[in-house]
Amino acid sequence: MTTLMKGAPAAAKIRDELGERVGALRARGVSPCLGLIRVGARPDDLAYERGAKKRMESVGVDCRVFELPEDVTQDALEEKFAQVNSDPEVHGIMVFRPLPKGLDIEPLRSAIDPRKDVDCMSPANIAGVFAGDKDVFAPCTPEAVLEVLDFYNVPLSGKRVTVVGRSLVVGRPLAMLLVSRNATVTVCHTRTADLAAECRRAEILIAAAGRAKMIGPELVADGAVVVDVGINVGPDGKLCGDVDFDAVSEAASAITPVPGGVGAVTSSVLARHVVRAAELLTR
Ligand code: NDP
Repeated sequence: MTTLMKGAPAAAKIRDELGERVGALRARGVSPCLGLIRVGARPDDLAYERGAKKRMESVGVDCRVFELPEDVTQDALEEKFAQVNSDPEVHGIMVFRPLPKGLDIEPLRSAIDPRKDVDCMSPANIAGVFAGDKDVFAPCTPEAVLEVLDFYNVPLSGKRVTVVGRSLVVGRPLAMLLVSRNATVTVCHTRTADLAAECRRAEILIAAAGRAKMIGPELVADGAVVVDVGINVGPDGKLCGDVDFDAVSEAASAITPVPGGVGAVTSSVLARHVVRAAELLTR
């Protein structure tokens, strides 16, 4: 029987754990707060913002949106960023990326207070993830992948894991987190010579390529655990992952759905990071 690894119960567990910590913060007059910096109004960003606000509110974390026009200058963006970065009432900061053309994220990445860097954009936090430092904020999506695997009791130590995708947001940091958990990790990308062979060797296969349904059953070993990070719009206009879910579920021992899998856990991980940032900044 294939286990359907839905994200909702893993997210609910994180929210339950946060209740007490948020209560303790509020009891000493601290309202944990996430600052979202959005330039322009891309539909993707707005959709994420609505979801994040709802999730933050559900755990007692405030969410403030700092909206800038699409034609904002680099100087004005950096000025607003500096204000938010030094605002004692904002504990975590997330900048919607990519920024519109002509704006440079690099000065913000260098300027962000690492204690407020809840989605791991600063070089210091990225380096921490690569060095295996458990105290830094890892990027939320890779951490959400581990949350799902842990929730469903999938052991990682000594396992052969293949990650498809090597972006700085998902694939690479995920590979590093897995190595820190003693997995043996292969990272694949568009230049991988034999993707099918690398995937078939995996006891745990994680797809983060952003290509609708590119992982078919011929890429999956019998009994493998399959995690789908991809969020794509399929040819039928519906949301789908990188994995051909129906075909692959027959071979896999466990699989995450899209939607309702990893994506459902990401914003709970973000909430946990904001709560920890508030604890660190106010202790
Ligand atoms: P990027 O486009 O930045 O990176 C995609 C990676 O996949 C690249 O390393 C690329 O290789 C590799 N890749 C693409 N096509 C293939 C292929 N045919 N064979 C092998 N490797 C391939 O995407 P992101 O990492 O930002 O996101 C990946 C997916 O995860 C997207 O669908 C995105 O929407 C989703 N996502 C989901 C989140 C969630 O909460 N669930 C959050 C963030 C992202 P190369 O480096 O050679 O180009």
